[in-house]
Amino acid sequence: MLVQKEMLAALWQQPGFKITMLTNDMGIFTEKGGTILFLLGKDGIVTVDSEFPEQSQHLIDELKKKSQQPFTLLINTHHHGDHTSGNISFKGITAHVLAHENSLKNQTNVALASKTEDKQLYPDKTYATTWSDRVAGEKISLYYYGAGHTNGDSFVHFENKNIVHMGDLLFNRRHPFIDRTAGANIKSWINVLDKAMNKFDNKTIFVFGHAAEGYNVTGTKDDLKAFSAYLTNLLQYTDSQIKAGKTKEDILKATEIPGSPEWKGDGIQRPLTAAYEELTATK
Ligand SMILES: [Zn+2]
Ligand SMILES: [Zn+2]
Repeated sequence: MLVQKEMLAALWQQPGFKITMLTNDMGIFTEKGGTILFLLGKDGIVTVDSEFPEQSQHLIDELKKKSQQPFTLLINTHHHGDHTSGNISFKGITAHVLAHENSLKNQTNVALASKTEDKQLYPDKTYATTWSDRVAGEKISLYYYGAGHTNGDSFVHFENKNIVHMGDLLFNRRHPFIDRTAGANIKSWINVLDKAMNKFDNKTIFVFGHAAEGYNVTGTKDDLKAFSAYLTNLLQYTDSQIKAGKTKEDILKATEIPGSPEWKGDGIQRPLTAAYEELTATK
C-alpha cells in the first residue's frame, strides 16, 4: 500500500507541461498561460513568451536537455502576465529580450501598479513597426500592425520554417480577452488580422496564445479568417443591440455571438463588454 501511495504521489508531482515539436528544431510548450514557441537553432535557442516563473523554469530545464546552445533571444508577443511573468527565469540566461515598444510600456505600468517590478525581466530591445534579424540560423521578423488584443501585439515570423507566433491576437474558438486598459480596439484588431492574412501565405503555421478545450493552439489562415469573422459579428451584433435600445445589462445576457456559434463556453461577457464600451465611447 505504501509503495502504491508513493508511486501515486510521484505521478502527481510530474510537471504538467507538454512539448509538441512542429519541425525537427521548432516546437511548442504548453502548461499554464499563453503558448510558448521555441527554436533549437544551430548556434542558439530562441523562445517566444514565457508563461509563469515555474513554467518557464520547466521549459528552460527541458530545452537544456535537448540542446547545448546558449539562450540567444526571448521574445514577448505582448505584456500580459501569462506571457511575460516567466521572463524572470531567463534572468542571466538569455542574452536579450525583445518586444514591441508598447509591450514594454504596458509591462512597466502593470508592474508599477501591482508593485511587482522586482519580479520582471523587461525587454532590452524594442521596435515600433518592424524588426528583422538573423538569429540562431533563422531569419526572424516581427510585425506590428496596430492595436488589437492590446496596443503592443507582435506577429513573430520564423521565415525559413514559415511559423508565426501571433500571441493573443487569436483565441481559437474561445471568447477573447480584449484589454481596453492597454489600448485594445476591436475595429483595429479586424484590420490587423487583414494585414496578417495578406502578409503570410497559405502554408504558414500560426501559433495561438489560447484555444478552447478540444481545439489546437496552432492552425492556419482559415482560423484567422474565422476569428476575424467572429470579431466582425461581435461588433455588428452589439451595435444592432445598442441601436435597438437595449441596455448594457441586456446585451450581456447573450449566450452566443450570432454567426459565430463555434465560440462557446464561458467568458462571453468579456468581449460583449469591450464591444459595448468601444461602440459607446465618446470620442
Ligand atoms: Zn494570454
Ligand atoms: Zn493577452
